[in-house]
Amino acid sequence: MRVLAIGECMAELAPAEVPGNYRLGFAGDTFNTAWYLARLRPDMAVSFQTAIGTDAISRQLREAVAGCGIGTDHIRTVPDRTVGLYLITLTNGERSFSYWRDHSAARLLADDAAALAHAMEEADLVYFSGITLAILAPAARKTLLDALRTARAAGKRIAFDPNLRPRLWSDMGEMTETIMQGAAVCDIALPSFEDEARWFDDADPEATADRYAAAGAETVVVKNGSDPVHCRQGDAQGTYPVPPLSSVIDTTAAGDSFNAAILAGIADDSPMEASIARACRLAGQVVQGRGALVPVDPARVDG
Ligand code: ADP
Repeated sequence: MRVLAIGECMAELAPAEVPGNYRLGFAGDTFNTAWYLARLRPDMAVSFQTAIGTDAISRQLREAVAGCGIGTDHIRTVPDRTVGLYLITLTNGERSFSYWRDHSAARLLADDAAALAHAMEEADLVYFSGITLAILAPAARKTLLDALRTARAAGKRIAFDPNLRPRLWSDMGEMTETIMQGAAVCDIALPSFEDEARWFDDADPEATADRYAAAGAETVVVKNGSDPVHCRQGDAQGTYPVPPLSSVIDTTAAGDSFNAAILAGIADDSPMEASIARACRLAGQVVQGRGALVPVDPARVDG
């Protein structure tokens, strides 16, 4: 199974031990999922599609992606742009994020329709998110959605995390409408209930699952923090408890890592119940570490 994740990977500056010093890393929602997938399944061909600049930090990002065992063949380079950046500030132990991504190269990731189609042709499973859609101009969004629709018609499986981020959208109606366009081209939807309830007025996770199923997703897995995971596959529904944890340190990338285990399960044709259990064990390790990319132990994911 060849997996292609599409989206933005940013430079991350995180506080280092010495106050005032920062450590450079690279992260971003769909990239994080690709990273966890590559860790869980080093044998799997995982690649990442985005756009970067031609400057030193862009080259460093490409090397970092490749260094994680993730394919970089489909990363476009665009002159005169560079990678997006975010900085983490710690205030009394609480993390807050500042972003510089309005003009990032990744906003042009769907500008070359032929390259996008080619990247999808070389994959069996394509993964994108609501953030991938949010950063694109309307015409590029259409290019991406058209390419996903074509890939799906050609037998590729499409997975989508709506990842609602209101601050990336200028209009909330546009956000919800575009998210449902994403839903309409996917086979597997991986929403988080808290965000969905807020922006779509879903009464409960079943309502979220029903909405994505009605849009056309065969499989919907609704995450809900420490509350049970709700899954709908065709007409079958199930609710699966999340094992309690003694401590939660940082929930960054909980959903991204969870998605990686679900995608690994889809690649293996694992029963969904087993995949959800693995996803909870993986996300459980991630929230007990710090940052987006936590060096998890794959053996502990398998239980
Ligand atoms: P997102 O990061 O997309 O908002 P959630 O917060 O719903 O996603 O969390 C995704 C998964 O991470 C959950 O389904 C669960 O497995 C795990 N998780 C998140 N928070 C906790 C927690 N407090 N305790 C145990 N597991 C958690």
